[in-house]
Amino acid sequence: MKINLISDTVTKPSPGMLDAMMSAKVGDDVFKEDPTVNALEDQVARMFGMEAALFFPSGTMANQTGIKLHTQPGEQLICHEYAHIYNYEGGGVSFNSGVSCKLLEGGSGMMTAEQVAAAINPPDFYHSPLTSLVCIENTTNKGGGACWDIKELKKIKNICDENGLAYHLDGARLWNALVAKKETPKQYGELFDTISVCFSKGLGCPVGSVLIGSQELIGKALRIRKVFGGGMRQAGFLGAAAIYALDNNIERLAEDHKRAKEIGQLLNELSCIGKVAPIETNIVIFEIDEQKLSVADFTKKLEKHNVHIIDMGQGKLRMVTHYDYTQEMHEIVLNVLDKL
Ligand SMILES: *Cc1c(COP(=O)(O)O)cnc(C)c1O
Repeated sequence: MKINLISDTVTKPSPGMLDAMMSAKVGDDVFKEDPTVNALEDQVARMFGMEAALFFPSGTMANQTGIKLHTQPGEQLICHEYAHIYNYEGGGVSFNSGVSCKLLEGGSGMMTAEQVAAAINPPDFYHSPLTSLVCIENTTNKGGGACWDIKELKKIKNICDENGLAYHLDGARLWNALVAKKETPKQYGELFDTISVCFSKGLGCPVGSVLIGSQELIGKALRIRKVFGGGMRQAGFLGAAAIYALDNNIERLAEDHKRAKEIGQLLNELSCIGKVAPIETNIVIFEIDEQKLSVADFTKKLEKHNVHIIDMGQGKLRMVTHYDYTQEMHEIVLNVLDKL
């Protein structure tokens, strides 16, 4: 039995999800005639208390569209140095929008409102790029699945308002944050101009993300999605998986979080393991004590038991728990780690 902990994107649709997909009513979504995609977009917009939503084939495209909506070429956005939009979207910020990133430091992929305020270029100082957007990631991916304090997000929102900046949330794993912090989507809908959410991470869908915002912004996003080549035809088969996931797979994320914490606790007790980053959700990031064991030997030992994890470089390893990681697998993993 292969135990794959490299990411929460490795899940395959469950039988219930496949049934929902197979019986979806579909139409041509490029003509906005797919009833299932329309229902999904309505459902997500309502959940967040926002006016409109648009279905995308990937979280990357949803984020890139958000950035394009809020910026003009030559301008600058502010984000954390760990941000997915900066590190893992193929340089799309510069390629698609002609925008540069002002990168901020801070623990677990998060910065403070004070740092954001200090990073805004004075608008009348025409030598610097004009700051036009602040991007937040919740939970933080490279930051180890950490959840933002919503009070800090409100402070940053105030700074955006005072300075006329747009505010975008990369919420690929926002579902995990909502469950871990017992928050509601509406609390986020009140703060951000646009929010992207993924269905293909913890929620177990094969494909799909949604961008949420005002009617006006989502109207413009439809054109940008077309330009990016993201218009899909009978996309309701995918939309049905997302609706199924919203109705069935959110609360269970707590199980993934519990298992990640149990793995973290055990790692903390092992002598060959260095620092284990704090675990709030489903991501475990840790270092090997390379005096005792090399990273390569560690991963090899796990692979011998068919347990697969990812090397993030710089001596850091990552495990991610997910929908297809069962209790049976979890017990095997704990056992294998315990015997290292
Ligand atoms: C996965 C992820 C995305 C979107 O990635 P896709 O592979 O394009 O769906 C965006 N932001 C974060 C933080 C992610 O983890």
